[in-house]
Amino acid sequence: MDTVIVGSGIIGVSTAYYLSHTTPASKIHLIEASPRLFSSASGFAAGFCTADWYSGSVAPLGALSFRLHRELAAEHDGRRTWGYSRSTGTSMVPGRGAGAKTRTGRGEDRLRQNEGESRDKLAGTHDFHSGAGPAWLTRREGDRIEVISEDDTTAQVDPLRLCKFLLGEAMERGVRLHQPAKVVGVSVDNDSVMNGVRIKGEDGEYDIDCKRLVITAGAWTADVFATLFPASKLGLPISQYAGHSLVVRSPRWTAEHEAEGCHAIFSTDSSGYSPEVFSRIGGEIYIAGLNDPDLDLPEPETLPALSDDISVEKLRQTAKRMLGLPSGDDDLEVVKEGLCFRPVSKKGTPIIARISDQQLGGGMKTLGGKDGGVFVSAGHGPWGISQSLGTGKVLAELIEDKPTSANIRGLGV
Ligand SMILES: Cc1cc2nc3c(=O)[nH]c(=O)nc-3n(C[C@H](O)[C@H](O)[C@H](O)COP(=O)(O)OP(=O)(O)OC[C@H]3O[C@@H](n4cnc5c(N)ncnc54)[C@H](O)[C@@H]3O)c2cc1C
Repeated sequence: MDTVIVGSGIIGVSTAYYLSHTTPASKIHLIEASPRLFSSASGFAAGFCTADWYSGSVAPLGALSFRLHRELAAEHDGRRTWGYSRSTGTSMVPGRGAGAKTRTGRGEDRLRQNEGESRDKLAGTHDFHSGAGPAWLTRREGDRIEVISEDDTTAQVDPLRLCKFLLGEAMERGVRLHQPAKVVGVSVDNDSVMNGVRIKGEDGEYDIDCKRLVITAGAWTADVFATLFPASKLGLPISQYAGHSLVVRSPRWTAEHEAEGCHAIFSTDSSGYSPEVFSRIGGEIYIAGLNDPDLDLPEPETLPALSDDISVEKLRQTAKRMLGLPSGDDDLEVVKEGLCFRPVSKKGTPIIARISDQQLGGGMKTLGGKDGGVFVSAGHGPWGISQSLGTGKVLAELIEDKPTSANIRGLGV
C-alpha cells in the first residue's frame, strides 16, 4: 500500500513526516520536480507564524499548527535546528517622512485573504499598546510604532531549515525521495481502480505501485491534477501569486537585543506597497511585501526563479530606509534575493481534501477508506509555513481515514 506524494515543499514534507509515524516509511514516496530542493515558496518565505490571525474555517487548523510548531521545537531543539523563536508583531506607520502618503500599516498582503478578526487586529480595533520596536529598526520623527501581537501567539522560524529538518527526519525513517522527477501518468487495474503511477526521472521512466496519491505541488497543483486526471471536470481553484524578497544583515542587530525573541514589522512605503520585515535567530533580517500577481508560473524544473533588478532595487531602498543608518548611508549586507510563487486559492483558504472517485472522471475508482484515494492540499497563500505542520498532520490523518485533529470541514474542494 504505497503512498506517492507529488511536490516536496513544506506541505509535502510535513505530510510525509506525519504519515511516516503511522505507515511504514519505506512505502512513502516523495516526488520533486525541481533539481534544487525547496526552491519555491517554502524555501524563500519569511517564516512568520501565528496562532490566531485567522478567522472562519481555517482558524482551528491555524491554532493546531501553532501548537505543533511549539511542540516540535521543544522536542527537537527547534531554536538551534531551524531558528524557532517567539516573535513580537509590530505595526510601524511612518511619520511625515518617507511613507507619509500611504494608506495604512496593515500588512495588506499578509492579510489580503484573511478577513475578519485578523484584519481588525491590524486595523486598529484591537487593543494596541506602544512598543519601541527592535534595536535594528531605524526610527524617524513622527513614526508610529505599536505592538499588535499578544504574548505567545506569534513565532518565527527559518522555513528552509524547518523543511530540511522535516525531510531529513522522514528520510531517516525510510521515506524515499525521487528527485528530480515527475509523475506523468496514473494506471488502473481491470476494474478501473487506481493501482500505480508512472514516474519520469533523470534515468528514464519507471512505475510505482500505489493506491494512495497525494498532490501537494503548491502553485502547480491544479496543473498536476489536470495532467494526471484528464477526464476530470474538476478545475482546482489554485493559482500563483509571485513575491520578491531580500535577506540582509545589519550591524545594529545583536543577539542581546533579540534575547526576548524575534520581531515582525508591518509597515507602508511611499511607493505604494506594504513592506514586511522579520528578524530571525542568528541575525538575518528578511524583507518582503513586494508582489506581482501577473507574473507567469515557470516550470518547476527551472526553479529557483530570478528576481528582476527593479524589484530587488525597490526592496533595497526599503531596507535602507527601515534598517539603514539615519544618515542614509548603506551599511547592510545583502545575503540573499528571492522570487517565488505562493499557491493561492479562490476562497483564500487552503484546500485539504480527499477527491471523490466521481471527481476523478473517466470512471476511475480508488479503494476508499485508508486503502486508497486521491488527496490534495494546496492554496495556503501567505500562511503556508504557519499552517504547515497542522496541514501535514490532518492530511496524514485523512489519508489514514482517521478523525482529524482539527476541524477541516470548510477546507474541501
Ligand atoms: C515572499 C513570501 C513570503 C512568505 N512568508 C510567509 C510567512 O512568513 N509565513 C507563512 O506562513 N507563509 C509565508 N509565505 C507563504 C508560504 O511560503 C507558502 O504558502 C508555502 O510555502 C506553500 O508551500 P507548498 O508546499 O504548498 O508549495 P511550494 O513551496 O511551492 O512547494 C511545491 C513543490 O512542488 C513542486 N512541484 C511542482 N510541480 C511538480 C510536479 N509536477 N511534480 C513534482 N513536484 C512538483 C515544486 O517544485 C515545489 O517544490 C510566504 C510566501 C512568499 C512568496
